[in-house]
Amino acid sequence: MAYSNKAKDFFSAELTGIRDAGTYKEERYIESPQGAMITVEYPEGAPQKEVINFCANNYLGLSSHPDVIRAAEEGLQKRGYGMSSVRFICGTQDIHNELEKKLTAFLGTEDTVLFASCMDANAGVFDVALGKEDAMIADRLVHASIVDGMRLCKAQLYNYKHANMEHLEEKLKETQECRFRMIITDGVFSMDGDIAPLDKIVALAERYDAMVMVDDSHATGFMGKTGRGTHEHCGVFGKIDVITTTLGKALGGASGGCVSGRKEIVELCRQRARPYLFSNTVPPVIITAANTVLDLISKTTDRRDLLEKNTLYFRKKMTEAGFDIREGVHPIVPIMLYNAKLAQDMARDLYDEGIYVIGFSFPVVPKGQARIRVQISAAHEKEHLDKAIAAFTKIGGKYTILGKSKKEIIELYGY
Ligand SMILES: *Cc1c(COP(=O)(O)O)cnc(C)c1O
Repeated sequence: MAYSNKAKDFFSAELTGIRDAGTYKEERYIESPQGAMITVEYPEGAPQKEVINFCANNYLGLSSHPDVIRAAEEGLQKRGYGMSSVRFICGTQDIHNELEKKLTAFLGTEDTVLFASCMDANAGVFDVALGKEDAMIADRLVHASIVDGMRLCKAQLYNYKHANMEHLEEKLKETQECRFRMIITDGVFSMDGDIAPLDKIVALAERYDAMVMVDDSHATGFMGKTGRGTHEHCGVFGKIDVITTTLGKALGGASGGCVSGRKEIVELCRQRARPYLFSNTVPPVIITAANTVLDLISKTTDRRDLLEKNTLYFRKKMTEAGFDIREGVHPIVPIMLYNAKLAQDMARDLYDEGIYVIGFSFPVVPKGQARIRVQISAAHEKEHLDKAIAAFTKIGGKYTILGKSKKEIIELYGY
């Protein structure tokens, strides 16, 4: 018994601090499969409610797709539930190898190695590829898992202002003496849905002899004409040295991630990446389902085309309705509200209207940048989108923000 009152009081005070700051995260219980429509119990004990879901990363609507479920069931029957081993002892089945090959072909790289998650892929890859003679030059807004992965690596850390190519070039000049440099970015940034200028990044990398690493978790499966990712979208397919991505978003949404890219780096990950060596293999059900997902999206672009159509429709209609939307083409659609309480209140009212969205505020986004982040899916029917647009318009009217500029919304509600 060493859990003293001093420790207990300290932790309790921390929790109170989180609540007081208004950043305490409540979990809401969903009592249905993931899909366009979900059944939610919120708050706990309240009657179940059917709502249209606009905050999953289920971009292609594959999370509960019948073919994917069937493939998972088949995997369970034929290959069992768990492997009870890491990959290199007795945790690799032929289907793992098959999936790695399919991911390599889909992403247009040389080789791929699976991890338990993209978080793990990011935790492993930098330490494997770089040492203290080297430099990591990262966009300032990279995902938290990249920040943590870079912390585990001894290379010198530099960062450049978000998507700012002049600043990146300065950093490349500053680090000329290093043995290797790696430019590190998200393909798509999750809060704004904005896209890294990979064409310009690759051009700079070529000029200054640096490698390029992209985390494409919010793009794999649907960005670009055939859904390969941000590199396809930006016209630099085949030119990215290291891609990390997740199976936990568009590609079925269960779990798993990978490092894909130059074959020597991938091979070194198999030898040295700590999350790969010391954490359990991805289970067979996920692998057989992911193999089917890769087959589906390699065969046809129907689902990413539908997602694109839904996204453009929703963006157009919401802009016409008078909302202040971060411009772009990505299915992440940030409805800017600036004030944290306004974002919370509107999200709650929308929930009452049957639209499930979440208000985001500091510290998830910068102070004064509160918003409702809508995420569009190929699973949404036109009717779902129209219901959401109507509900947003009604609630936007209630708070008198329609047609108002950033400045006017801030005048009304403050930051
Ligand atoms: C979601 C996400 C991750 C984490 O992926 P997991 O497979 O769930 O660990 C990593 N990087 C980015 C950019 C993400 O959006």
